[in-house]
Amino acid sequence: MKIVIVGGVAGGATAAARLRRLSEDAEIIILERSGFVSYANCGLPYYIGGEIKSRSALTLQTPGGFKQRFNIDVRVKNEAIAIDMANKTVRVRNLNDGSEYTETYDKLILSPGAKAIVPDIDGIASDKIFTLRTVENTFEIDDYIKKNSPETAVVIGGGFIGLEMAENLTRRGIKVKLIQRTESVMPNLDYDMACMLHAELLNNGVELMLSKNVIGFGNIRDKLEVRIEEEAPIETEFAILAVGVVPESHLAEEAGLELGIKKAIKVNSHMQTSDPDIYAVGDAVQVTNFVTGEPDFVPLAGPAGRQGRIAAENILGAGSRYDGAQGSGILRVFGLTAACTGINEERARRRKIDCGSVDLEYPSHAGYYPGAEEIFMKAVFEKGTGKILGAQFTGRDGVDKRCDVMAAAIRMGATASDLTRFELCYAPPFGTPKDIVNVAGDLIEKKLGAE
Ligand code: FAD
Repeated sequence: MKIVIVGGVAGGATAAARLRRLSEDAEIIILERSGFVSYANCGLPYYIGGEIKSRSALTLQTPGGFKQRFNIDVRVKNEAIAIDMANKTVRVRNLNDGSEYTETYDKLILSPGAKAIVPDIDGIASDKIFTLRTVENTFEIDDYIKKNSPETAVVIGGGFIGLEMAENLTRRGIKVKLIQRTESVMPNLDYDMACMLHAELLNNGVELMLSKNVIGFGNIRDKLEVRIEEEAPIETEFAILAVGVVPESHLAEEAGLELGIKKAIKVNSHMQTSDPDIYAVGDAVQVTNFVTGEPDFVPLAGPAGRQGRIAAENILGAGSRYDGAQGSGILRVFGLTAACTGINEERARRRKIDCGSVDLEYPSHAGYYPGAEEIFMKAVFEKGTGKILGAQFTGRDGVDKRCDVMAAAIRMGATASDLTRFELCYAPPFGTPKDIVNVAGDLIEKKLGAE
């Protein structure tokens, strides 16, 4: 069996490794457009901030390493430019010399990821505006900072990448203004929870411009002018554009594969596209939201890896199924951690789900043991059943483990009553005999009982 994989990072590299574990004989080829394979995209902002120090730490694997360890043929700087489904071939451009060739396949896996949204507004082509997606983008930003020693930057977009960049540029000694179109950052959090992030950003010197819309850019002397609707323009040295991503699905679209929301590639639970010999995984695909059952776009590393594995298993092993994404995500903003899983209240209400929520504040570990910090939690539940639909957290300690407990609870269909009965680890440095998760269950039960 000959399997060609387009995209050699989270979904593609995981699929390749799993295929090799399932078969020693399969011929496996990875086509990767960038110069790097299996790189650490999630670590890129931390390289710019200086916490990850060496460039090589971002590129854990090399084509040589893949060949030696897995006998997989990785071709970096090779871009798939067309798929011929009838003849089961992929047209490939070698970006080193511009030459083209055709590769046949028995099965094709598409894992081309997502691309940064670049709005078509005045001055967008400026060489002082950067997006962050690949190792190459990271080195461009880092090189720009080293060469120009900028004192100011504007970050446009307050999602995961925008917030991580605001923190990491600040760590680099750059004064950051963050512009966000909506009234709060990190749209996966409800407004009340996001406000704690606003305070943390302000306390660390990031200037916040909320509910502001960037409408264009210009050049003033050697500076970049950022034009904002109904506001005076801002002068800065450079800008990071982080206004979201869309599926990189043009190859699939041109081949005639079925697309779904946001032009994400439609797949079934086996990660199979509308052509049974072509699988697709990761940021490029439409998933089912695990909580609401609606079509969704969840561009996160965990789902991409899991889907890559499932595609491999459906090609070479016992079939396995992907049962949806719930959007578990976590973020550090300076000293604060924010995490969420499932859906927030705003989304539940938009979906007309009859829901309620509880907000609580509880210590991360026993108050008498040094270093306890308050955790803020919001849990969203379905009225009537008490089923947990989502949870959001902010705090300086212990947020990650509480959100993981809630993520597992949601996956298992837990109700408020289940939360009250969870027996979680306890010793004074780590928690309290009754954990915030148990207390959330109590509060929801009380609320349900009062109705
Ligand atoms: P990718 O990992 O993006 O890989 C796609 C690859 O396909 C790219 O290397 C691209 O060059 C290649 N490609 C595209 N088209 C072609 C073509 N035609 N031919 C050949 N190659 C092609 N997720 C989290 O869960 N947690 C985090 O903390 C987190 N942090 C992130 C930070 C940053 C800066 C970025 C950019 C992303 C972050 N993500 C995070 C998202 C996560 O990286 C993605 O969800 C995940 O990598 C998606 O995997 P994928 O395989 O679909 O795509």
